[in-house]
Amino acid sequence: MTCGNTTSTDETLRACPACGDSEHPPADLSDTVTVTLTTHELRILTIWAENWARQCGESAVKAMGVILLRLATQTDAALTLSQEIADVRAAFPDSEVSVLRADGTETDL
Ligand SMILES: [Zn+2]
Repeated sequence: MTCGNTTSTDETLRACPACGDSEHPPADLSDTVTVTLTTHELRILTIWAENWARQCGESAVKAMGVILLRLATQTDAALTLSQEIADVRAAFPDSEVSVLRADGTETDL
């Protein structure tokens, strides 16, 4: 799953055929769900999940990235804070964007 490979076979794969990863099998596209959320609720879930993944390590970040890419094909909403900042920069290319942190420091983006 961390490489983004997918499968829709019924057979149980011991390793990803694309990258050989035996710890994280490919996503099974024959096993999906449909849910209804508001865009705001989806953004809350993805922002929290991305932040949590960053605390869990590289493998979790890769898996979250794959999931976010799949979600991005299904919505135009910015699903992460970094995407939202990128969207603001694209909409206002001549603007200066900076972040004021809780400790009082300011960082230009
Ligand atoms: Zn793989």
